Amino acid sequence: MGPPGAGKGTQAKLLAKTYGIPQVSTGDILRQAVKDETPLGMKAKTYLSKGELVPDDIMIGIIKDRLQEPDCQKGWLFDGFPRTIWQAIALDTILAQKDLQLDAVVNIYVQQEELIKRLSGRRVCKNCGETFHVIFNPPVQDQICDKCGGPLYQREDDKEETVKRRLEVYQNRTKPLIDYYWEKDLLISVDGGTHSIEDVFKHICYDLSLKMKVKEG
Ligand code: AMP
Repeated sequence: MGPPGAGKGTQAKLLAKTYGIPQVSTGDILRQAVKDETPLGMKAKTYLSKGELVPDDIMIGIIKDRLQEPDCQKGWLFDGFPRTIWQAIALDTILAQKDLQLDAVVNIYVQQEELIKRLSGRRVCKNCGETFHVIFNPPVQDQICDKCGGPLYQREDDKEETVKRRLEVYQNRTKPLIDYYWEKDLLISVDGGTHSIEDVFKHICYDLSLKMKVKEG
């Protein structure tokens, strides 16, 4: 969890690789559906472009289907889900039906001014999804992905007006989940605004290992 621009996707990618589990990114699933012009993509398109949340029933359906896939049978990492209290409650029900529990919820916090700087400079590869930043992490060749040579673009929802709306939506609808998971003793909170990607990652891994030890008794 964390506001847009906190580095959820970046850290989720590293964690998924380390733990050998899939990264279930609802943002990526929705963007792919929009690109492929599927019925889901058609429904989701206007919400994404305005920085609004896609309705809960659609999101819960996506998650139910995704968790049936074979790669999720040994665990998974959500990136960008749940984002509302209703999604969190629905997730509890889905997990209870599978006799599963969450191990931990990672919350990455970052100051608002830093988020705006990060989001407005973010560029994403059209081919492989790798992210860059025009100032903090520029590609070697302007507008070209270092990893696959694909063209870089600015996400429609990283434009200024939409960024403001996404931050508001985060404050009003997603931030309350921090208390929800704190009360369940699942929360790991990490400062994602003043440390390097590697240091944030080390911090998360360390706190996760402590949490797992406590769980295992
Ligand atoms: P993200 O890539 O996680 O920043 O998500 C991009 C956009 O996808 C969000 O601004 C929402 O419009 C939509 N989205 C992603 N995850 C969810 C979710 N769990 N609930 C509702 N909308 C979502």
